[in-house]
Amino acid sequence: MTLHIATPLIESGAMAGPFGQRVWLKMEALQPPGSFKIRGIGHACEEYLRRGAKRFICSSGGNAGIAAAYAGRRLNVPVLVVVPESTSERAKDLIARECAGVIVHGASFQEANAHALAMVGPDDAFIHPFDDPLLWTGHASMIDEVARAGLVPDAIVLSVGGGGLLCGVAEGLQRNGWGHVPVIAVETQGADSLAQSLSANTRVALPAITSIATSLGARMVAQQAFTWSAEHPVRSIVVSDQAAVAACLRFLDEQRVLVEPACGAALAVVYGAAPELRGYKNVLVIVCGGVTATLAQLQAWAAR
Ligand SMILES: *Cc1c(COP(=O)(O)O)cnc(C)c1O
Repeated sequence: MTLHIATPLIESGAMAGPFGQRVWLKMEALQPPGSFKIRGIGHACEEYLRRGAKRFICSSGGNAGIAAAYAGRRLNVPVLVVVPESTSERAKDLIARECAGVIVHGASFQEANAHALAMVGPDDAFIHPFDDPLLWTGHASMIDEVARAGLVPDAIVLSVGGGGLLCGVAEGLQRNGWGHVPVIAVETQGADSLAQSLSANTRVALPAITSIATSLGARMVAQQAFTWSAEHPVRSIVVSDQAAVAACLRFLDEQRVLVEPACGAALAVVYGAAPELRGYKNVLVIVCGGVTATLAQLQAWAAR
């Protein structure tokens, strides 16, 4: 038994591309805590429990914190989530609904993360939102499911925040003998830490996150995400917040599933018929999900 579920892999007729490609959706939005994060975080929490952890401490005000809280409740381990002041009431409610403790500390993720780390005692396990090899191994299970379903993708489209999803998918591709399958890594303007690192050919720290796609808001990507970009075919694309939000609304109409702009970024590449997709027959989109945006909020962003 795992804490994540095997998600549907569905072909989207509505999203079929102008270049004749078929578009397949890996529906991580349907994970019980609402995003792919439970794959990696569930795997990490189970492993830390096996090693004797008595409490999980996580530093994310978003989907990672929600996934850690869910994992702790399922495993009967107390969870403490340290979130920055910028975290929405909705996100805090969702964490508390999973019976985890919530501490608000600092203006941004950096301060909340430092505070969480300082609280970690000998019986605690620290759950990082993206930079932990256990997370990547857990995320990789989504590619195992695609392989088991018999689909051989020609390219994979996914969103990048700190790069945990990218590391997991790359690991999954390698372990299924698909090391040649390119990954199209999508970020929004103002959260484009991978794109900037690739063009500078060194890891770049953004001065600030200015995108509304807060789940992509890592000022610097994990070293391993940058390393994969040299060892695996990775193409980087940056889309606007507007395009990401429009993609969320269109996806809601077409597929009847609500996702965050962090996920809309990847969908926008398909909806925008990005030239990077040309030549691929079967395109797999990781619909990473996210529960921190409401329909009203998407509509307000769209009207701006
Ligand atoms: C965390 C998250 C991402 C980005 O994942 P990383 O592993 O940080 O790159 C994208 N979309 C959603 C909905 C997320 O919760």
